[in-house]
Amino acid sequence: MSDIASTPTGDPGPALRRLPRPALVGVLAVEVLAVVLVLLAGLEPVRLQDVGLAGLLVLLSVVHTELATGIERVRRRVAAASYFDLSSVWTFAAAMLLPPLPAALVIAVIYAHLWKRVWQPAKVPLYRHVYTTATVVLAALAARTVLVACGGLPAGSDDVGGVLGLAAAVVVYVLVNTLLVALAIALSTRRRQTVALQRLLGQWDDNVLELATLCMGALAAVALADSPGLAVLALPPILVLHRAVLVRHFETAASTDGKTGLYNAASWQGQARRAVRRSQRNGTAVGVLILDLDHFKAVNDRYGHLAGDDVLASVADVLRACVRDDDVVGRFGGEEFVVLLPGLDTGPEGRAELVAVAERLRRRVEQLDLAVETPDGPMTIDAITISVGGAVSAGQAGVEHLLKAADTALYAAKAGGRNQVQVAGAAELEEAAASGADGRPSGTIPAIPAPRTPDGLPPAGVQRRAG
Ligand code: GH3
Ligand code: MG
Ligand code: MG
Repeated sequence: MSDIASTPTGDPGPALRRLPRPALVGVLAVEVLAVVLVLLAGLEPVRLQDVGLAGLLVLLSVVHTELATGIERVRRRVAAASYFDLSSVWTFAAAMLLPPLPAALVIAVIYAHLWKRVWQPAKVPLYRHVYTTATVVLAALAARTVLVACGGLPAGSDDVGGVLGLAAAVVVYVLVNTLLVALAIALSTRRRQTVALQRLLGQWDDNVLELATLCMGALAAVALADSPGLAVLALPPILVLHRAVLVRHFETAASTDGKTGLYNAASWQGQARRAVRRSQRNGTAVGVLILDLDHFKAVNDRYGHLAGDDVLASVADVLRACVRDDDVVGRFGGEEFVVLLPGLDTGPEGRAELVAVAERLRRRVEQLDLAVETPDGPMTIDAITISVGGAVSAGQAGVEHLLKAADTALYAAKAGGRNQVQVAGAAELEEAAASGADGRPSGTIPAIPAPRTPDGLPPAGVQRRAG
Protein backbone atom coordinates (compact mmCIF):
# COMPACT_ATOMS: atom_id res chain seq x y z
CA MET A 1 0.00 0.00 0.00
CA SER A 2 2.79 2.40 0.70
CA ASP A 3 3.54 2.76 -2.98
CA ILE A 4 0.15 3.75 -4.28
CA ALA A 5 0.84 7.43 -3.77
CA SER A 6 4.12 9.06 -4.58
CA THR A 7 3.75 11.71 -1.92
CA PRO A 8 2.17 11.39 1.46
CA THR A 9 -0.60 13.91 1.78
CA GLY A 10 -3.70 14.21 3.86
CA ASP A 11 -5.59 15.61 0.88
CA PRO A 12 -7.08 12.65 -0.97
CA GLY A 13 -7.97 14.50 -4.18
CA PRO A 14 -4.65 15.41 -5.79
CA ALA A 15 -2.87 12.21 -4.65
CA LEU A 16 -5.71 10.09 -6.03
CA ARG A 17 -5.62 11.96 -9.34
CA ARG A 18 -1.88 11.33 -9.65
CA LEU A 19 -2.46 7.58 -9.63
CA PRO A 20 -1.90 5.82 -12.94
CA ARG A 21 -5.26 5.05 -14.57
CA PRO A 22 -5.07 1.25 -14.09
CA ALA A 23 -4.43 1.77 -10.37
CA LEU A 24 -7.34 4.21 -10.09
CA VAL A 25 -9.68 1.77 -11.81
CA GLY A 26 -8.36 -1.14 -9.69
CA VAL A 27 -8.73 0.76 -6.42
CA LEU A 28 -12.27 1.87 -7.19
CA ALA A 29 -13.26 -1.60 -8.42
CA VAL A 30 -12.08 -3.22 -5.18
CA GLU A 31 -13.94 -0.64 -3.09
CA VAL A 32 -17.17 -1.03 -5.07
CA LEU A 33 -16.86 -4.82 -4.88
CA ALA A 34 -16.51 -4.65 -1.08
CA VAL A 35 -19.64 -2.51 -0.72
CA VAL A 36 -21.71 -4.62 -3.14
CA LEU A 37 -20.73 -7.93 -1.52
CA VAL A 38 -21.49 -6.62 1.97
CA LEU A 39 -24.90 -5.37 0.85
CA LEU A 40 -25.67 -8.65 -0.91
CA ALA A 41 -24.63 -10.68 2.12
CA GLY A 42 -26.23 -8.16 4.45
CA LEU A 43 -29.57 -9.91 4.14
CA GLU A 44 -28.40 -12.38 6.79
CA PRO A 45 -30.40 -11.62 9.96
CA VAL A 46 -28.63 -9.82 12.79
CA ARG A 47 -29.29 -10.96 16.36
CA LEU A 48 -29.32 -8.64 19.35
CA GLN A 49 -26.30 -10.41 20.83
CA ASP A 50 -24.40 -9.61 17.60
CA VAL A 51 -24.84 -5.93 18.35
CA GLY A 52 -23.34 -6.48 21.79
CA LEU A 53 -20.41 -8.45 20.33
CA ALA A 54 -19.82 -5.79 17.69
CA GLY A 55 -19.75 -3.11 20.38
CA LEU A 56 -17.32 -5.15 22.49
CA LEU A 57 -14.94 -5.70 19.54
CA VAL A 58 -14.95 -2.01 18.67
CA LEU A 59 -14.30 -1.16 22.32
CA LEU A 60 -11.37 -3.61 22.54
CA SER A 61 -9.90 -2.26 19.32
CA VAL A 62 -10.22 1.34 20.49
CA VAL A 63 -8.53 0.51 23.81
CA HIS A 64 -5.81 -1.40 21.93
CA THR A 65 -5.21 1.48 19.51
CA GLU A 66 -5.19 4.09 22.26
CA LEU A 67 -2.66 2.09 24.27
CA ALA A 68 -0.56 1.42 21.18
CA THR A 69 -0.84 4.79 19.45
CA GLY A 70 2.66 5.87 20.36
CA ILE A 71 4.15 2.56 19.28
CA GLU A 72 2.14 2.46 16.07
CA ARG A 73 3.07 6.00 15.03
CA VAL A 74 6.77 5.34 15.45
CA ARG A 75 6.47 1.99 13.71
CA ARG A 76 4.90 3.52 10.63
CA ARG A 77 7.58 6.18 10.47
CA VAL A 78 10.43 3.67 10.47
CA ALA A 79 8.75 0.93 8.45
CA ALA A 80 9.36 1.24 4.73
CA ALA A 81 6.28 -0.66 3.67
CA SER A 82 3.89 -1.63 6.39
CA TYR A 83 0.44 -2.16 4.99
CA PHE A 84 -1.12 -4.05 7.85
CA ASP A 85 -1.55 -3.41 11.49
CA LEU A 86 -2.29 -5.52 14.48
CA SER A 87 -5.94 -4.44 14.57
CA SER A 88 -6.60 -7.55 12.50
CA VAL A 89 -6.87 -9.39 15.80
CA TRP A 90 -10.24 -7.63 16.20
CA THR A 91 -11.30 -7.44 12.55
CA PHE A 92 -10.67 -11.17 12.15
CA ALA A 93 -12.61 -11.96 15.33
CA ALA A 94 -15.46 -9.82 13.94
CA ALA A 95 -15.34 -11.77 10.67
CA MET A 96 -15.59 -15.07 12.55
CA LEU A 97 -18.34 -14.06 14.96
CA LEU A 98 -20.64 -11.69 13.11
CA PRO A 99 -22.79 -11.76 9.98
CA PRO A 100 -21.25 -9.80 7.06
CA LEU A 101 -23.05 -6.49 7.56
CA PRO A 102 -22.23 -5.95 11.25
CA ALA A 103 -18.71 -7.37 10.68
CA ALA A 104 -18.13 -4.82 7.90
CA LEU A 105 -19.48 -2.06 10.14
CA VAL A 106 -17.11 -3.10 12.94
CA ILE A 107 -14.20 -3.02 10.47
CA ALA A 108 -15.28 0.39 9.16
CA VAL A 109 -15.50 1.85 12.67
CA ILE A 110 -12.17 0.31 13.73
CA TYR A 111 -10.47 1.72 10.62
CA ALA A 112 -12.12 5.12 11.02
CA HIS A 113 -10.69 5.27 14.54
CA LEU A 114 -7.26 4.13 13.32
CA TRP A 115 -7.40 6.82 10.64
CA LYS A 116 -8.12 9.53 13.16
CA ARG A 117 -5.51 8.39 15.68
CA VAL A 118 -2.70 6.98 13.57
CA TRP A 119 -2.85 7.43 9.82
CA GLN A 120 -4.17 10.95 9.42
CA PRO A 121 -1.46 12.32 11.75
CA ALA A 122 1.07 10.28 9.71
CA LYS A 123 -0.27 12.05 6.57
CA VAL A 124 -1.22 8.84 4.80
CA PRO A 125 -3.58 9.74 1.93
CA LEU A 126 -7.20 9.00 2.80
CA TYR A 127 -7.84 7.04 -0.39
CA ARG A 128 -5.12 4.58 0.60
CA HIS A 129 -6.75 4.08 3.95
CA VAL A 130 -10.16 3.58 2.36
CA TYR A 131 -8.62 1.01 0.01
CA THR A 132 -7.03 -0.81 2.97
CA THR A 133 -10.42 -0.86 4.70
CA ALA A 134 -12.00 -2.36 1.57
CA THR A 135 -9.33 -5.07 1.35
CA VAL A 136 -9.91 -5.97 5.01
CA VAL A 137 -13.67 -6.16 4.45
CA LEU A 138 -13.17 -8.45 1.44
CA ALA A 139 -10.67 -10.61 3.35
CA ALA A 140 -13.15 -10.85 6.24
CA LEU A 141 -16.00 -11.85 3.90
CA ALA A 142 -13.87 -14.54 2.26
CA ALA A 143 -12.66 -15.87 5.61
CA ARG A 144 -16.20 -16.03 6.98
CA THR A 145 -17.42 -17.83 3.87
CA VAL A 146 -14.73 -20.48 4.41
CA LEU A 147 -15.58 -20.82 8.11
CA VAL A 148 -19.30 -21.19 7.42
CA ALA A 149 -18.58 -23.73 4.66
CA CYS A 150 -16.54 -25.75 7.18
CA GLY A 151 -19.34 -25.77 9.75
CA GLY A 152 -18.63 -22.67 11.85
CA LEU A 153 -16.49 -22.07 14.93
CA PRO A 154 -15.24 -25.16 16.81
CA ALA A 155 -17.87 -26.40 19.25
CA GLY A 156 -16.55 -28.70 21.95
CA SER A 157 -13.21 -30.36 22.48
CA ASP A 158 -13.59 -32.98 19.72
CA ASP A 159 -14.57 -30.62 16.88
CA VAL A 160 -11.50 -31.11 14.67
CA GLY A 161 -13.42 -29.85 11.61
CA GLY A 162 -14.17 -26.56 13.38
CA VAL A 163 -10.47 -26.06 14.22
CA LEU A 164 -9.47 -26.80 10.63
CA GLY A 165 -12.16 -24.43 9.35
CA LEU A 166 -10.80 -21.68 11.59
CA ALA A 167 -7.25 -22.33 10.35
CA ALA A 168 -8.45 -22.26 6.74
CA ALA A 169 -10.22 -18.96 7.42
CA VAL A 170 -6.94 -17.49 8.70
CA VAL A 171 -5.12 -18.60 5.56
CA VAL A 172 -7.82 -17.21 3.25
CA TYR A 173 -7.87 -13.89 5.14
CA VAL A 174 -4.10 -13.53 4.67
CA LEU A 175 -4.25 -14.56 1.02
CA VAL A 176 -7.04 -12.20 0.02
CA ASN A 177 -5.52 -9.28 1.89
CA THR A 178 -2.01 -9.86 0.53
CA LEU A 179 -3.19 -10.32 -3.04
CA LEU A 180 -5.30 -7.15 -2.99
CA VAL A 181 -2.40 -5.12 -1.59
CA ALA A 182 -0.07 -6.65 -4.20
CA LEU A 183 -2.62 -5.76 -6.89
CA ALA A 184 -2.62 -2.12 -5.79
CA ILE A 185 1.17 -1.95 -5.79
CA ALA A 186 1.47 -3.67 -9.17
CA LEU A 187 -1.12 -1.39 -10.77
CA SER A 188 0.29 1.78 -9.30
CA THR A 189 3.91 1.23 -10.16
CA ARG A 190 4.91 3.66 -12.86
CA ARG A 191 8.09 1.93 -13.78
CA ARG A 192 7.74 -0.22 -16.85
CA GLN A 193 9.55 -3.16 -15.37
CA THR A 194 8.82 -6.11 -13.21
CA VAL A 195 8.29 -5.23 -9.58
CA ALA A 196 10.31 -7.34 -7.18
CA LEU A 197 8.04 -10.08 -5.83
CA GLN A 198 8.99 -9.19 -2.28
CA ARG A 199 7.70 -5.66 -2.76
CA LEU A 200 4.39 -7.09 -3.89
CA LEU A 201 3.99 -9.66 -1.19
CA GLY A 202 5.65 -7.80 1.69
CA GLN A 203 8.46 -8.94 3.93
CA TRP A 204 8.39 -12.52 5.14
CA ASP A 205 8.64 -11.38 8.77
CA ASP A 206 5.73 -8.98 8.33
CA ASN A 207 3.57 -11.73 6.94
CA VAL A 208 4.49 -14.06 9.80
CA LEU A 209 3.55 -11.31 12.23
CA GLU A 210 0.21 -10.84 10.46
CA LEU A 211 -0.34 -14.58 10.76
CA ALA A 212 0.46 -14.46 14.49
CA THR A 213 -1.99 -11.58 14.92
CA LEU A 214 -4.71 -13.52 13.12
CA CYS A 215 -4.08 -16.56 15.31
CA MET A 216 -4.71 -14.29 18.30
CA GLY A 217 -7.84 -13.10 16.51
CA ALA A 218 -8.97 -16.70 16.06
CA LEU A 219 -8.42 -17.43 19.76
CA ALA A 220 -10.22 -14.22 20.69
CA ALA A 221 -13.15 -15.24 18.48
CA VAL A 222 -13.47 -18.64 20.19
CA ALA A 223 -13.20 -17.00 23.61
CA LEU A 224 -15.73 -14.31 22.72
CA ALA A 225 -18.20 -16.86 21.40
CA ASP A 226 -18.10 -18.69 24.72
CA SER A 227 -17.46 -16.09 27.39
CA PRO A 228 -16.88 -12.58 26.08
CA GLY A 229 -14.91 -11.45 29.13
CA LEU A 230 -12.02 -13.75 28.16
CA ALA A 231 -11.33 -11.71 25.03
CA VAL A 232 -9.77 -9.03 27.23
CA LEU A 233 -6.89 -11.47 27.82
CA ALA A 234 -5.88 -10.95 24.18
CA LEU A 235 -4.99 -7.30 24.89
CA PRO A 236 -1.69 -7.65 26.82
CA PRO A 237 -0.04 -10.10 24.37
CA ILE A 238 -1.07 -8.02 21.37
CA LEU A 239 0.53 -4.93 22.93
CA VAL A 240 3.74 -6.88 23.58
CA LEU A 241 3.66 -8.07 19.97
CA HIS A 242 3.37 -4.43 18.90
CA ARG A 243 6.55 -3.54 20.79
CA ALA A 244 8.43 -6.51 19.33
CA VAL A 245 7.61 -5.27 15.84
CA LEU A 246 9.02 -1.86 16.61
CA VAL A 247 12.40 -3.30 17.59
CA ARG A 248 12.59 -5.28 14.36
CA HIS A 249 11.65 -2.27 12.24
CA PHE A 250 14.38 -0.25 13.91
CA GLU A 251 16.87 -2.99 13.08
CA THR A 252 15.78 -2.97 9.45
CA ALA A 253 15.86 0.82 9.23
CA ALA A 254 19.38 0.87 10.64
CA SER A 255 20.72 -1.67 8.16
CA THR A 256 19.05 -0.58 4.93
CA ASP A 257 19.38 2.38 2.64
CA GLY A 258 16.15 4.36 2.74
CA LYS A 259 16.01 5.28 -0.95
CA THR A 260 16.54 1.83 -2.40
CA GLY A 261 15.81 -0.65 0.36
CA LEU A 262 19.20 -2.25 -0.27
CA TYR A 263 21.76 -2.90 2.46
CA ASN A 264 23.64 0.24 3.44
CA ALA A 265 27.45 0.20 3.34
CA ALA A 266 27.92 -0.93 6.93
CA SER A 267 25.47 -3.82 6.86
CA TRP A 268 26.57 -4.86 3.35
CA GLN A 269 30.07 -5.17 4.73
CA GLY A 270 28.91 -7.46 7.55
CA GLN A 271 26.75 -9.62 5.29
CA ALA A 272 29.49 -9.80 2.65
CA ARG A 273 32.11 -10.95 5.15
CA ARG A 274 29.86 -13.74 6.37
CA ALA A 275 29.09 -14.79 2.79
CA VAL A 276 32.78 -14.81 1.88
CA ARG A 277 33.66 -16.97 4.89
CA ARG A 278 30.87 -19.40 4.01
CA SER A 279 31.95 -19.54 0.40
CA GLN A 280 35.59 -20.15 1.32
CA ARG A 281 34.60 -22.91 3.73
CA ASN A 282 32.66 -24.56 0.92
CA GLY A 283 35.67 -24.29 -1.39
CA THR A 284 33.95 -21.98 -3.89
CA ALA A 285 35.09 -18.68 -5.37
CA VAL A 286 33.67 -15.26 -4.53
CA GLY A 287 33.10 -12.32 -6.86
CA VAL A 288 32.41 -8.65 -6.24
CA LEU A 289 30.86 -6.11 -8.62
CA ILE A 290 30.92 -2.36 -8.09
CA LEU A 291 28.40 -0.56 -10.30
CA ASP A 292 28.44 3.18 -10.81
CA LEU A 293 25.85 5.12 -12.77
CA ASP A 294 27.37 7.00 -15.68
CA HIS A 295 27.11 10.78 -15.73
CA PHE A 296 24.49 10.66 -13.02
CA LYS A 297 25.09 14.27 -12.12
CA ALA A 298 23.80 15.15 -15.59
CA VAL A 299 20.61 13.12 -14.94
CA ASN A 300 20.03 15.11 -11.75
CA ASP A 301 20.78 18.37 -13.53
CA ARG A 302 18.41 17.61 -16.37
CA TYR A 303 15.48 15.89 -14.63
CA GLY A 304 15.82 17.01 -11.02
CA HIS A 305 16.95 15.28 -7.86
CA LEU A 306 13.65 13.49 -7.25
CA ALA A 307 13.75 11.91 -10.69
CA GLY A 308 17.35 10.98 -9.89
CA ASP A 309 16.10 9.22 -6.78
CA ASP A 310 13.60 7.29 -8.93
CA VAL A 311 16.47 6.21 -11.16
CA LEU A 312 18.41 4.96 -8.13
CA ALA A 313 15.37 3.00 -6.92
CA SER A 314 14.85 1.47 -10.37
CA VAL A 315 18.48 0.45 -10.71
CA ALA A 316 18.23 -1.12 -7.26
CA ASP A 317 15.15 -3.07 -8.42
CA VAL A 318 17.10 -4.33 -11.43
CA LEU A 319 19.98 -5.47 -9.24
CA ARG A 320 17.65 -7.23 -6.83
CA ALA A 321 15.74 -8.92 -9.61
CA CYS A 322 18.77 -10.08 -11.60
CA VAL A 323 20.91 -11.77 -8.97
CA ARG A 324 20.46 -14.91 -6.91
CA ASP A 325 19.04 -14.91 -3.39
CA ASP A 326 22.48 -15.68 -1.95
CA ASP A 327 24.06 -12.64 -3.57
CA VAL A 328 24.43 -9.60 -1.35
CA VAL A 329 23.34 -6.30 -2.90
CA GLY A 330 24.08 -2.94 -1.32
CA ARG A 331 24.20 0.78 -1.98
CA PHE A 332 27.52 2.23 -1.05
CA GLY A 333 26.27 5.78 -1.14
CA GLY A 334 25.68 8.23 -3.94
CA GLU A 335 25.10 6.45 -7.24
CA GLU A 336 27.28 3.49 -6.47
CA PHE A 337 26.08 -0.05 -5.86
CA VAL A 338 27.88 -3.22 -4.92
CA VAL A 339 27.05 -6.89 -5.32
CA LEU A 340 28.84 -9.83 -3.71
CA LEU A 341 28.44 -13.15 -5.49
CA PRO A 342 29.46 -16.16 -3.39
CA GLY A 343 29.52 -19.78 -4.55
CA LEU A 344 31.19 -19.21 -7.93
CA ASP A 345 33.17 -21.87 -9.72
CA THR A 346 36.85 -21.80 -8.78
CA GLY A 347 38.06 -22.19 -12.36
CA PRO A 348 37.75 -19.82 -15.31
CA GLU A 349 34.01 -20.58 -15.30
CA GLY A 350 33.66 -18.55 -12.10
CA ARG A 351 35.13 -15.50 -13.74
CA ALA A 352 32.98 -16.06 -16.83
CA GLU A 353 29.90 -16.28 -14.61
CA LEU A 354 30.80 -13.00 -12.91
CA VAL A 355 31.23 -11.30 -16.29
CA ALA A 356 27.90 -12.75 -17.49
CA VAL A 357 26.06 -11.42 -14.42
CA ALA A 358 27.72 -8.01 -14.78
CA GLU A 359 26.85 -7.85 -18.47
CA ARG A 360 23.26 -8.84 -17.74
CA LEU A 361 22.95 -6.09 -15.15
CA ARG A 362 24.55 -3.55 -17.49
CA ARG A 363 22.16 -4.48 -20.32
CA ARG A 364 19.06 -4.44 -18.10
CA VAL A 365 19.93 -0.99 -16.79
CA GLU A 366 20.57 0.18 -20.35
CA GLN A 367 17.11 -1.07 -21.32
CA LEU A 368 15.37 0.82 -18.49
CA ASP A 369 12.66 3.13 -19.68
CA LEU A 370 11.64 5.22 -16.76
CA ALA A 371 8.61 7.50 -16.54
CA VAL A 372 9.41 10.24 -14.03
CA GLU A 373 7.87 13.42 -12.72
CA THR A 374 10.15 16.39 -13.30
CA PRO A 375 9.80 20.09 -12.53
CA ASP A 376 8.85 20.44 -16.26
CA GLY A 377 6.18 17.72 -16.12
CA PRO A 378 6.22 13.97 -16.84
CA MET A 379 9.20 12.74 -18.86
CA THR A 380 10.82 9.46 -19.79
CA ILE A 381 14.44 8.71 -18.99
CA ASP A 382 15.73 6.05 -21.34
CA ALA A 383 19.47 6.52 -21.47
CA ILE A 384 20.68 5.27 -18.12
CA THR A 385 23.91 3.34 -18.20
CA ILE A 386 26.27 1.92 -15.63
CA SER A 387 29.94 1.08 -15.59
CA VAL A 388 30.85 -2.08 -13.75
CA GLY A 389 34.10 -3.16 -12.16
CA GLY A 390 34.48 -6.73 -10.96
CA ALA A 391 36.92 -9.00 -9.17
CA VAL A 392 36.82 -12.69 -8.38
CA SER A 393 38.91 -14.79 -6.05
CA ALA A 394 39.10 -18.51 -5.50
CA GLY A 395 41.66 -18.05 -2.73
CA GLN A 396 41.63 -16.34 0.61
CA ALA A 397 41.15 -12.75 -0.59
CA GLY A 398 38.86 -10.87 1.79
CA VAL A 399 36.06 -8.45 0.98
CA GLU A 400 38.40 -5.45 1.21
CA HIS A 401 40.83 -6.87 -1.36
CA LEU A 402 38.06 -7.80 -3.73
CA LEU A 403 36.54 -4.32 -3.41
CA LYS A 404 39.84 -2.67 -4.04
CA ALA A 405 40.50 -4.73 -7.17
CA ALA A 406 36.91 -4.23 -8.40
CA ASP A 407 37.22 -0.50 -7.85
CA THR A 408 40.39 -0.38 -9.95
CA ALA A 409 38.49 -2.26 -12.68
CA LEU A 410 35.63 0.23 -12.37
CA TYR A 411 38.00 3.10 -13.00
CA ALA A 412 39.21 1.25 -16.08
CA ALA A 413 35.58 0.86 -17.26
CA LYS A 414 34.99 4.59 -16.80
CA ALA A 415 38.22 5.46 -18.57
CA GLY A 416 37.38 3.00 -21.35
CA GLY A 417 34.25 4.95 -22.28
CA ARG A 418 31.67 3.94 -19.63
CA ASN A 419 28.64 1.62 -20.10
CA GLN A 420 30.95 -1.37 -19.95
CA VAL A 421 32.22 -4.15 -17.70
CA GLN A 422 35.82 -4.65 -16.65
CA VAL A 423 36.96 -7.46 -14.40
CA ALA A 424 40.25 -7.28 -12.53
CA GLY A 425 42.88 -9.84 -13.41
CA ALA A 426 44.85 -11.92 -10.95
CA ALA A 427 47.62 -9.31 -10.94
CA GLU A 428 45.28 -6.54 -9.77
CA LEU A 429 43.93 -8.78 -7.04
CA GLU A 430 47.44 -9.58 -5.86
CA GLU A 431 48.29 -5.91 -5.93
CA ALA A 432 45.20 -5.15 -3.88
CA ALA A 433 46.13 -7.86 -1.41
CA ALA A 434 49.69 -6.55 -1.17
CA SER A 435 48.61 -2.96 -0.62
CA GLY A 436 45.95 -4.19 1.77
CA ALA A 437 48.67 -4.35 4.41
CA ASP A 438 49.02 -0.60 4.15
CA GLY A 439 47.42 -0.03 7.46
CA ARG A 440 43.76 0.19 6.48
CA PRO A 441 42.19 -1.78 9.27
CA SER A 442 40.06 -4.62 8.08
CA GLY A 443 36.47 -4.07 9.10
CA THR A 444 36.22 -0.39 8.29
CA ILE A 445 33.56 0.70 5.86
CA PRO A 446 35.07 1.05 2.41
CA ALA A 447 35.50 4.63 1.33
CA ILE A 448 33.31 5.94 -1.44
CA PRO A 449 35.70 6.39 -4.34
CA ALA A 450 37.02 9.87 -4.92
CA PRO A 451 35.39 12.06 -7.58
CA ARG A 452 36.44 11.38 -11.13
CA THR A 453 37.55 13.74 -13.82
CA PRO A 454 35.52 13.74 -17.03
CA ASP A 455 37.82 11.14 -18.57
CA GLY A 456 36.99 8.78 -15.74
CA LEU A 457 40.34 8.94 -13.99
CA PRO A 458 40.76 10.13 -10.44
CA PRO A 459 41.93 13.73 -10.30
CA ALA A 460 45.67 14.16 -9.99
CA GLY A 461 46.79 14.19 -6.43
CA VAL A 462 43.74 12.35 -5.12
CA GLN A 463 44.77 9.34 -3.17
CA ARG A 464 42.15 6.70 -3.80
CA ARG A 465 41.49 4.49 -0.86
CA ALA A 466 38.89 1.92 -1.61
CA GLY A 467 38.32 -1.41 0.05
P1 GH3 B 1 30.65 9.27 -13.69
O1 GH3 B 1 30.15 8.71 -14.97
O2 GH3 B 1 32.09 9.62 -13.75
O3 GH3 B 1 30.36 8.37 -12.53
O4 GH3 B 1 29.87 10.63 -13.48
P2 GH3 B 1 28.78 10.97 -12.41
O5 GH3 B 1 28.13 12.25 -12.76
O6 GH3 B 1 27.88 9.81 -12.20
O7 GH3 B 1 29.66 11.08 -11.09
P3 GH3 B 1 29.85 12.23 -10.06
O8 GH3 B 1 30.59 11.61 -8.93
O9 GH3 B 1 30.43 13.44 -10.70
O10 GH3 B 1 28.40 12.60 -9.59
C1 GH3 B 1 27.64 11.76 -8.82
C2 GH3 B 1 26.31 12.41 -8.68
O11 GH3 B 1 25.43 11.58 -7.94
C3 GH3 B 1 26.38 13.73 -7.97
C4 GH3 B 1 25.25 13.68 -6.96
O12 GH3 B 1 24.43 14.79 -7.09
C5 GH3 B 1 24.50 12.43 -7.34
N1 GH3 B 1 23.91 11.78 -6.17
C6 GH3 B 1 24.55 11.22 -5.13
N2 GH3 B 1 23.65 10.71 -4.25
C7 GH3 B 1 22.43 10.96 -4.76
C8 GH3 B 1 21.10 10.69 -4.31
O13 GH3 B 1 20.86 10.09 -3.26
N3 GH3 B 1 20.07 11.09 -5.11
C9 GH3 B 1 20.29 11.74 -6.28
N4 GH3 B 1 19.24 12.11 -7.00
N5 GH3 B 1 21.52 12.02 -6.71
C10 GH3 B 1 22.59 11.64 -5.98
MG1 MG C 1 28.66 7.94 -11.55
MG1 MG D 1 30.24 7.51 -8.22
